[in-house]
Amino acid sequence: MSHQPVLSTHVMAVRWFHGKITREQAERLLYPPETGLFLVRESTNYPGDYTLCVSCEGKVEHYRIIYSSGKLTIDEEVYFDNLMQLVEHYTNDADGLCTNLMKPKLMEGTVAAQDEFSRSGWALERKDLKLLQVLGKGEFGDVVLGDYKGSKVAVKCIKNDATAQAFVAEALVMTQLQHKNLVQLLGVIVEDKSSLYIVTEFMAKGSLVDYLRSRGRSVLGGECLLKFSLDVSEGMEYLESNNFVHRDLAARNVLVSEDNIAKVSDFGLTKEASAIQDTSKLPVKWTAPEALREKLFSTKSDVWSFGILLWEIYSFGRVPYPRIALKDVVPRVEKGYKMDAPDGCPPVVYDVMKQCWHLDTNQRPSFRKLREQLEHIKAKELFQ
Ligand code: ADP
Ligand code: MG
Repeated sequence: MSHQPVLSTHVMAVRWFHGKITREQAERLLYPPETGLFLVRESTNYPGDYTLCVSCEGKVEHYRIIYSSGKLTIDEEVYFDNLMQLVEHYTNDADGLCTNLMKPKLMEGTVAAQDEFSRSGWALERKDLKLLQVLGKGEFGDVVLGDYKGSKVAVKCIKNDATAQAFVAEALVMTQLQHKNLVQLLGVIVEDKSSLYIVTEFMAKGSLVDYLRSRGRSVLGGECLLKFSLDVSEGMEYLESNNFVHRDLAARNVLVSEDNIAKVSDFGLTKEASAIQDTSKLPVKWTAPEALREKLFSTKSDVWSFGILLWEIYSFGRVPYPRIALKDVVPRVEKGYKMDAPDGCPPVVYDVMKQCWHLDTNQRPSFRKLREQLEHIKAKELFQ
C-alpha cells in the first residue's frame, strides 16, 4: 500500500467540490439559508455532468453544468475549461444565476491544496515562472517547457478538474519522493483558484520510448540499454522500499535527462486500488494479470511491468506483444504465454524478463533482486 492516499483524500484541489452527494444532501449542507452560499456536486441524473447548488433568498437552486467536448457550461453561451474557472466567473458576476457566488460551502475534514503546499514549502510563485513551449500532451493537460528563475523546468498544467484531484494527488506523492532515478518535483503553483501547475526538473531527451525509437540499434549499444535498465530498477527499488506502487511503469513514463540518466516519472496513477473503477483504461500490455483481473496492484505488479519495460528497451521501443490483437493478449498471458526475447537480447537479460512474468506473484523477484541481477550482468559484460 502506498502511504499517499490517506493524505490526498484530505487535501483538496478545491474545497467547495463535494463529489457524489444527492440533491437532498446538498440542500442540507446549504442550510441555514444564506444568499450566495454555494457548492458543486457530481450530477446524479447526468453522470459526467456537475450541478452547481446555490442558496438564494431562502431557496436552493440547482444548476446543471453540462460537460461537452472538454468544456463546461451552464447556459451554453459561456464555456469554461474547468470548474475553478466557472466558479470564478460566477463569483464576479451572477450572469443569469439567481445571485453571484459569494461563499463556498467547504467540505468538512479537508484542507485546501494551496494551503497545504504553502505550509510544506512546495508552493512556488507564478511570477518567477515563464512558460515557453509545449513539450507534450499529458493525461491531465499539456506539459510545457518553462523557465523558473533562470533554469529550465517542465510544467504540467491542468486541463480540467475532473482531474484536479488526481493532479493534486500526483503532486502530493511527488513531495514524498526523492531519488536520482525519479523525476524530481520542484514545486507547485496554485494560482488565483483557476490554474494548477506542477513544476518538475526538465528532462531534455524526452521519453525513453521516443529516445529508443529515434536512435535505434545502430546508435545504442548494449551498454547503454543495460544502463537504462539499471537506472529504472534503482528508481523502482527506492519506490519499493518506500511502499509506493507506481501502477503505470512503461517506457513512455520513463524520461531521459541531458546526461542520459533514465528517471521514472508519472505518478499520476499512484492511487488507491478502489479508486480505479474503469479497468478498461488500464494499459493492458503492461499490467500484470492479477491487477487487470482483481485490481490487485502491488510492487509485484510493478515488477511485471518492469519486465515489459525491459522488453521495450531491448527491442528499441517496439510495442509489446507484436502481432497479437489486444483482445487476445490477456487470455494468452493468463495461459502462460510469454513474449520471445527481442532480437539480439542477451539470454541473461531475457531470463530477468521471464522472472518478472511469473503468473505467481510470489515467484517474481523484488526490485532489489532485479537491481542486483542487472548489476551482475553489467559487471560480467565489463570483463568480456
Ligand atoms: P501523462 O502521464 O499525464 O500523460 P506525461 O507526464 O507522461 O503525461 O507527459 C507527457 C509527455 O510530456 C511525455 O511523454 C514527455 O514527452 C513530455 N514530458 C513530461 N514530463 C517531462 C519533463 N519533466 N521533461 C521533458 N519532457 C517531459
Ligand atoms: Mg505518461
